[in-house]
Amino acid sequence: MSLSTSVRKGLPIVKTDGEEWLLSSQPGLSVVIPIYNEVENLPHLIHAIALSLQDNQIDSYEIVCVDDGSSDGSAELLKQLARERSDLRAVILRRNYGQTAAMSAGFHHARGKVIVTLDGDLQNDPKDIPLLLSKLDDGYDLVSGWRKERQDAKVTRLLPSRIANWLIGKVTGVKLHDYGCSLKAYRSELVADLNLYGELHRFLPALAFIEGARITEIPVSHYPRRYGRSKYGLDRTFRVLMDLITIAFIKTFLTRPMHVFGFFGLFSTLAGIAIGAYLTFLKYGLQEGIRDRPLLIFAVVLILAGVQLFCFGLLAEMLMRTYHEAQGRPIYRVRELLGSDSGKTVS
Ligand code: UDP
Ligand code: MG
Repeated sequence: MSLSTSVRKGLPIVKTDGEEWLLSSQPGLSVVIPIYNEVENLPHLIHAIALSLQDNQIDSYEIVCVDDGSSDGSAELLKQLARERSDLRAVILRRNYGQTAAMSAGFHHARGKVIVTLDGDLQNDPKDIPLLLSKLDDGYDLVSGWRKERQDAKVTRLLPSRIANWLIGKVTGVKLHDYGCSLKAYRSELVADLNLYGELHRFLPALAFIEGARITEIPVSHYPRRYGRSKYGLDRTFRVLMDLITIAFIKTFLTRPMHVFGFFGLFSTLAGIAIGAYLTFLKYGLQEGIRDRPLLIFAVVLILAGVQLFCFGLLAEMLMRTYHEAQGRPIYRVRELLGSDSGKTVS
């Protein structure tokens, strides 16, 4: 059975006292939306999502809205809507933590087999959700939206975003046109493994790629904001850059840090020792003075830096082991298990 058929199939909806309840404890689809001061958008958004899913015979779904400490009454409206609708679940955070944390909270509370994320400001079109789902059917683990005709300010938003996308592609090796697009679909096992920090939600494809996911993108619609204001400006570029460095670090060093640090450490120490030996020969062999030679300082720095890099590599190696073992994280990811008995056999 294909993924989107199983998403559609879901358990029946029963009506009790005019209220509808989904019987399924695991819906096929969870739509996760971070909400920060989007009170005017909320009712339109939820209506549009429900309409798009029902039009495509997707019955087994839930909408998980995470209120990220809004101050404009979004939380109150969300609570009221969640009481009225059986397809809506509200997660109200204690304060404003930022979009990444809000999405992470959504992932933790989502129960669906497939998770779709989108913005709460109606800039994404819920009509694109079925397109993403059918792409997952083709065997992908993550389908990212590409806002081909993006409706945001040119200089402050589009330009930095272009540069960022290019850079992220170079560093991570995952070539997508539009990392920043929130409209994405994931198989839920994938996000269950990912821990998000900083502004890392835009690097989800890169993190997923490190976890061995199959990734693709499709063009999606994008509209200007109708209500409310964007929560970001140019300052985001800086934070994204810092996160990019973290990702590059994780990607290269996560499993074998000593391979990298150890190599540079050894290289630097050996170079320092070689220069030192040359200077020793000059002093004692040729009786030349070496006190005022910059090369002497260079040799000392190389040896010191080399030893430090080496120790740093060893520490990183210990940290990496703690990281993997404390979470019971294997260093590999299995896509499928085949065979009559996929469990362990005794003796
Ligand atoms: N958002 C959030 N917490 C924040 C900032 C933003 O949950 O601290 C939500 C916001 O409500 C919206 C989404 O993240 O649903 C994207 O924000 P925005 O539309 O301002 O970003 P842009 O589309 O301008 O990049
Ligand atoms: Mg927006």
